[in-house]
Amino acid sequence: MVIIMSQDATAENIKNVVSSVESIGLSTKIMEGESQTIVGVMGDKGKMCCLNVEALSGVEKTVAISKSYKLVSREFHPQSTVIDVDGVKIGDGSLAVMAGPCAVESREQLFEAAEAVKASGAQFLRGGAYKPRTSPYSFQGLEEEGLKYLAEAGERTGLKVVTEVTEVDNVAVVAEYADVLQIGARNMQNFRLLKEVGRIDKPIMLKRGLSATLDEWLNAAEYIMSEGNSKVIFCERGIRSYEPYTRNTLDLSAVAAIKHLSHLPIIVDPSHGTGKWRMIKPMCFAAVAAGADGLMVEMHPNPARALSDGAQSLTPENFKEMMSGVTKLSKFMQESGLAIREL
Ligand code: PEP
Ligand code: MN
Repeated sequence: MVIIMSQDATAENIKNVVSSVESIGLSTKIMEGESQTIVGVMGDKGKMCCLNVEALSGVEKTVAISKSYKLVSREFHPQSTVIDVDGVKIGDGSLAVMAGPCAVESREQLFEAAEAVKASGAQFLRGGAYKPRTSPYSFQGLEEEGLKYLAEAGERTGLKVVTEVTEVDNVAVVAEYADVLQIGARNMQNFRLLKEVGRIDKPIMLKRGLSATLDEWLNAAEYIMSEGNSKVIFCERGIRSYEPYTRNTLDLSAVAAIKHLSHLPIIVDPSHGTGKWRMIKPMCFAAVAAGADGLMVEMHPNPARALSDGAQSLTPENFKEMMSGVTKLSKFMQESGLAIREL
């Protein structure tokens, strides 16, 4: 349930509503809107029968949320959430682009990639230091050494750093070096990890699980938000289907669905979504047209020599060309009034 406070509700009214709800054993979460405050109520809704919330001063109405995820839902928070990554916004109508190699392989490789990311106008540098690989014999990542290179490259270029955290024990070290923590597709339902990143104060980019339904994905985000971290960004990266031509099937309809069901921003990763570098540019264009708040793209200074995901990595030249196109398209969408913000 959410409690919608009237526009003239005082801070005292809100405090009273929160303490009344908490006194019957339920928890609350306050969301400040532009003109109204909303109090979310979590826990066993049966307990609400002993409290007439609508009779409390400053309460306009209550709205039941039927879905299993609440804090993530647009019913709970009608306005789209904008996530501020130390001054770089995601979800404000601009296009956030995260790019870089699949894995951090060396200081030189990462720095070369970072320069190309910066020169093309993207705002985030990506790169895996802990790599979740299908085969135990594949390159597993440079771990903390890789994190250090990422932080150094971020500092040098002014790019924000996004990198994956694969286990609970590494959350603290990844949070020390990264601006945004990525939860990979294989960990989307690692509930202990989701709760752990829910307790830190850094944005979390939550990739869609390999075969996850939208409902499972939204509930995974709820795990993070229910621990107190509201800065969650969805990332559609393709789901497994019967089509073997592409690595996954990039579900761009998820962009529209998530925009309708949730207030959180969503970005699209066509690299893992298709597995083919030639398909990246058209899928980036399609994602922007569909209303994505950003893109995640793999780019490698020398894809033929990449230790992972070379076949889906753009060269710096191709990345530059793609960026020039999406920048124009995003500007056109905004200026022509065609940009899709809420559904
Ligand atoms: C990645 O972004 O490097 C990655 C491993 O992606 P996913 O979790 O989507 O497979
Ligand atoms: Mn990859």
